[in-house]
Amino acid sequence: MTKICTRCLLKDFSQEQYEVIIVNGLSSLPEEDLTDKSESERRLDICRHCGKLNQGTCMACGCFVEIRASLKKGRCPYEKW
Ligand code: SF4
Repeated sequence: MTKICTRCLLKDFSQEQYEVIIVNGLSSLPEEDLTDKSESERRLDICRHCGKLNQGTCMACGCFVEIRASLKKGRCPYEKW
């Protein structure tokens, strides 16, 4: 039986899935609302090791973490970042 990893980001799934949800979503937002890449990666490293991450979604708030972590105003509901 194949074990499905529940602690993955969408970019760890198919490129098509990632492009549709994350890349298109982020490209529709104003540039000035987005963090720099190093900050979003720092946040996502924390999400990767969090028990609330389930297939790119935070089970605490229901958001796609790759979008939330890229927003300057984005916050972790558990204040991990
Ligand atoms: S946003 Fe916070 S609670 Fe949600 S998966 Fe990331 S670290 Fe965990």
